[in-house]
Amino acid sequence: MAMKILAEDCTACGACEFECPNAAIKAKGATFIIKESACTECDGEAPKCVAVCPADCIVKV
Ligand code: SF4
Ligand code: SF4
Repeated sequence: MAMKILAEDCTACGACEFECPNAAIKAKGATFIIKESACTECDGEAPKCVAVCPADCIVKV
């Protein structure tokens, strides 16, 4: 269980990185990535990263 960032749509704004309670999101090159093993999908709550992403490019794997 994890979320994934669609690199082609990510603008690398960085908003999601600071919202993740598990520090699962990091910059990588010109995009951001979610470390699968660290993402808990916000434990059943609405994913915080999805809520703040202006590009709507974070999807469920
Ligand atoms: S769904 Fe939650 S835990 Fe997973 S990357 Fe997004 S903010 Fe972090
Ligand atoms: S909030 Fe969306 S557009 Fe911004 S860095 Fe994260 S995934 Fe990319």
